[in-house]
Amino acid sequence: MPKALRIYNTLSRTLEDFTPLHANLVGMYVCGPTVYSYLHLGNCRTFSSFDMIFRYLKYAGYKVRYVRNITDAGHLEGDLDEGDDKFAKRAKIEQLEPMEIVQKYTQYFHDVMRDFNCLPPSIEPTATGHIIEQIEMTKELLSHGWAYEVEGTIYFDVEKYSKENNYGILSNRNLNDLLDGTRTLSGQEDKRGRLDFALWIKAKPEHLMQWQSPWGMGFPGWHIECSAMSKKYLGAQFDIHGGGMDLISTHHTNEIAQNCACNGVAPVRYWMHTNMLTVNGVRMSKSAGNGFLPDELFSGSHPLLEKGYSPMSVRFFMMQSHYRSTLDFSNEALQAAEKGYARLMTAIRLIDTLKTEGDSNDMVVALRSKCEAAMSEDFNTPIAIAHLFEGVTFINNVNDGRERISPQDKINLKQLYQDFVFDVFGLKEEAVIHNNKMDGVMQILLDQRAEAKARKDFETSDRLRDKLLNLGITIQDGKDGATYSL
Ligand SMILES: [Zn+2]
Repeated sequence: MPKALRIYNTLSRTLEDFTPLHANLVGMYVCGPTVYSYLHLGNCRTFSSFDMIFRYLKYAGYKVRYVRNITDAGHLEGDLDEGDDKFAKRAKIEQLEPMEIVQKYTQYFHDVMRDFNCLPPSIEPTATGHIIEQIEMTKELLSHGWAYEVEGTIYFDVEKYSKENNYGILSNRNLNDLLDGTRTLSGQEDKRGRLDFALWIKAKPEHLMQWQSPWGMGFPGWHIECSAMSKKYLGAQFDIHGGGMDLISTHHTNEIAQNCACNGVAPVRYWMHTNMLTVNGVRMSKSAGNGFLPDELFSGSHPLLEKGYSPMSVRFFMMQSHYRSTLDFSNEALQAAEKGYARLMTAIRLIDTLKTEGDSNDMVVALRSKCEAAMSEDFNTPIAIAHLFEGVTFINNVNDGRERISPQDKINLKQLYQDFVFDVFGLKEEAVIHNNKMDGVMQILLDQRAEAKARKDFETSDRLRDKLLNLGITIQDGKDGATYSL
């Protein structure tokens, strides 16, 4: 029996008991990146959050099929089917084939996911690999009158759909509100309704990515790919659909309409959305000039950053806030997270060295169930991390001789940190980079230790050695002096 869970459902705007459609199996779909440019940090937060959710579901005893797509065609600049094709435009700028753009930025995306230690999804389907499925779904919608053709472009008929369905169900807005918020865009006068969206778009002859369809040469609209691919791999109905909250009002709203119209059933039982990022309290965006790329964050090469922050300290920083809260980047907060992450890792390394004696400690025994309780309440990572730090304090106290740890507690504690820190939160030990500065600092410490030994102050020399060992640095004494290794 998997562990009980509650999930905040965007659809009902409440916390709901999680009951998967098929006993122990969970189907989860997350909208992946559009690979026409460097992945931005908001996406990293979304994918790291769903990686944590994927990991915790497995910890809780579910078998999870996690599908995260790659949008490699059909995404126009505006969400409402206006503007240029993102791939074609980028291809022109970089003087590459659109598929070279796709290859380049897919590779980059995978590299960043590896930096953040995100597990690969079970299936990572691409839009270009599922043109047939998208054409089939479009045909199905056309044949039942949910869509109409205007000179080779197929639009979904939102007005007709709204007569029998609540189109704005996910964003909790009625049709008039939605209409008020939409303008007519030039070049789209052929649409019957302002909210209608394209399922298939007629391609101009010069368009570089186009496919044969019953309506002539064209390419799929952005929304249809997720409907077609989630249905193919997870079924007409599945458990969890995730993405950033910016996808609620258009992309996910349209996915629901397509699926309900085509399959006669609401596709998703639990809609989950991650919140946005801010920098020093201001929403992160290209136009505000405060959107740094993952690489810039790691290297510190952005004017807003005082220094670089390692991928794991950034991941730890993300896990310290709940996925539905805004996450505010500032140098102070990142440096605090860096220290917290180092403190956690140091304590975990210490566990093996602790001498055991005495009886079990109630606080230690209760830690696992406290962490599980936090995670089962809509994946509350900040509370679970706070509990893990109760354990850190205890470990440090035992190490300093202020408390005692029983043999069983030591085994349990080690397993607890393995399960939550490494397996669920997806953190890992980061190798300290060998460089000249590190060598310089180490030489100062080795000299101090040699001086202590020379004056027979073995307490100091041993303490230096032990403290370095706790950080994962080993000192070897040789006849030409001491050396160190990581
Ligand atoms: Zn999607």
